[in-house]
Amino acid sequence: MNKRDFLKNSVLAGTGIFATAMGTGHARSFLADDVPYTPALGGYHLDPLPYAYNALEPYIDEKTMKLHHDIHHQGYVTGLNKATDAVAAAIAANDYSLIKHWERELAFHGAGHFLHAIFWSIMGPSAGKRSAELDSAISRDFGSFDNFKKYFVASATAVEGSGWGILAYEPTAGKLVVLQAEKHSSLSQWTSIPLLVVDVWEHAYYLNYQNKRKDYVEAFFNVINWEEVSKRYELAMS
Ligand code: MN
Repeated sequence: MNKRDFLKNSVLAGTGIFATAMGTGHARSFLADDVPYTPALGGYHLDPLPYAYNALEPYIDEKTMKLHHDIHHQGYVTGLNKATDAVAAAIAANDYSLIKHWERELAFHGAGHFLHAIFWSIMGPSAGKRSAELDSAISRDFGSFDNFKKYFVASATAVEGSGWGILAYEPTAGKLVVLQAEKHSSLSQWTSIPLLVVDVWEHAYYLNYQNKRKDYVEAFFNVINWEEVSKRYELAMS
């Protein structure tokens, strides 16, 4: 996969890395290469989880994973398809009277779909191993892995309302940054490439952790697949 494909698949869609994690051996674009775009279909689909629903227990329970993936994530895919179709219809009709609404829907459901696709792929029952390159970038930009973990947990825990904690590569300065996202799409640095994301919407943890978001974010570190995060870093740098 070259850098352009990586950006297309992982930044715009997230599904490329996801497909790799599933072992399908090829990246999928956000409009699947083998399916011609038709407005009626929207073009986005939900991949199955790359592991069993109970694979992350005891840290993230089976029921949460099933609800989260099958109901919540599917909702974003459906919403994104609907918004994509509506924008295509607006272009065809040259009627932009509702464009503000559809642009919001496009950003919200699009970011929701892409971040969830990354989220499933950067977790797993086996922790994998951080690459030497990612490790040294973490040390360079945060002092140490321990510093990074404390910073990431504090930042994700402090997201106001629903949102995400994100470790990203920011290519303008060439460094790693920890960011928050409110909902899915607000407070983004548009050039950053997400490497590690944690879903801190209540639907991601409420069954097991109730209001103890910090416990959930700390437990999340037990299910991170660092090999996948390292792969994302390598691709982002290439
Ligand atoms: Mn979620």
